[in-house]
Amino acid sequence: MSVHDQIARVNQLLSGRNQTNIHANDDLEKFVNLVRQWHHDRNLIEGASDKDQFCKLMQEAGELSDNICKGKDISDDIGDMMVVLINIAERNNLTLKDCLMKAWDDIKDRKGKMVDGVFIKEADLS
Ligand SMILES: [Mg+2]
Repeated sequence: MSVHDQIARVNQLLSGRNQTNIHANDDLEKFVNLVRQWHHDRNLIEGASDKDQFCKLMQEAGELSDNICKGKDISDDIGDMMVVLINIAERNNLTLKDCLMKAWDDIKDRKGKMVDGVFIKEADLS
């Protein structure tokens, strides 16, 4: 699944437009809870810090970059980054859903244009 397909999938999950998406959303929440518990069981919430986990996130971002550049499968890399983001969110009493909803709220009506494969928001174009 391409990055664009995955983003489209997340958008579908967030919109909750039909029964299938609601079911998939429940599954995602179950996975997130398993990962949250995994972090607690290994003392990675109290025993680590946001700075530690941010370094880990950048390490995982490097692996994602490497595999994108090599044209390899990136599903594990995206998953690993989500695992680390769940850790940071948990330490800050946030959920991925809270964070995604906030981000979605910011971008959902955003207008702009593509410049060399990068979306430039309208406010940054002038
Ligand atoms: Mg990894």
